[in-house]
Amino acid sequence: MEKNIVPIKSIEFITHDVLKIVTEKPAHYNFISGQATELSINKPGWISKRNPFTFTSLPENNFLEFNIKTYPEHKGVTNELLKLKAGDELILHDVFGAISYQGQGVFIAGGAGVTPFISIFRFLQSKNLIGDNKLIFANKKKEDIIREQEFKDLLGTNFINILSDEKADGVAYGKITKDFLKLHIGASVKKVYLCGPPPMMDSILKHLSALGIAKKDIIVEDM
Ligand SMILES: Cc1cc2nc3c(=O)[nH]c(=O)nc-3n(C[C@H](O)[C@H](O)[C@H](O)COP(=O)(O)OP(=O)(O)OC[C@H]3O[C@@H](n4cnc5c(N)ncnc54)[C@H](O)[C@@H]3O)c2cc1C
Repeated sequence: MEKNIVPIKSIEFITHDVLKIVTEKPAHYNFISGQATELSINKPGWISKRNPFTFTSLPENNFLEFNIKTYPEHKGVTNELLKLKAGDELILHDVFGAISYQGQGVFIAGGAGVTPFISIFRFLQSKNLIGDNKLIFANKKKEDIIREQEFKDLLGTNFINILSDEKADGVAYGKITKDFLKLHIGASVKKVYLCGPPPMMDSILKHLSALGIAKKDIIVEDM
């Protein structure tokens, strides 16, 4: 069982409730874009509490980056992360994760479920492979959209937002429906990548099945 103590290099908000945490990277630590690790805080009372978070940096970077949505009201790990500063330490455990890039397709994310796709899109950009990949990103409000400008720059019109709790210019409003998916996915889609909270995943998996997309072409991770 791997256990690596890493100092935090920087910690800052990138939305009203999402922290970007950059840490040192242990020399032998390897992952592929889309994978995650369990993370603990190296502080009395928190060492044995392990929560999963996804690497948003690239495997070849000499640092690790995480984008972490915080829930102060849970009084758990993410609330504790809010109290940390550069120089404080995290403990990283084994690397795992079900999502990896398996060819061009449509990525569908809900909230912090976008984190595996951040590393994957950065990987695709580094290899000049963005192509016609598409991201459908569901959030409650505009202020919740993680990495909005980066995805706009990378994907242009292939970056499609939908907001459930707020109307905004040029952005779809409501929950992701079968018709919404049909409009944006297209008949020739090869792969669909899906990551978000379980209720959203359940509903979208039903829509994808109704649209005739085979299970083997859907790459999923619950968050
Ligand atoms: C593979 C994987 C990768 C992930 N990667 C990321 C990532 O990169 N970025 C990211 O932001 N998130 C990610 N997540 C989700 C992330 O792990 C959780 O959001 C986080 O661990 C929750 O921590 P916490 O501080 O809220 O609560 P915890 O420390 O887990 O729990 C504290 C307390 O809050 C309670 N609690 C938990 N959930 C709720 C709730 N919904 N309502 C009320 N009380 C609750 C618990 O019962 C517990 O008592 C990932 C999840 C998985 C499975």
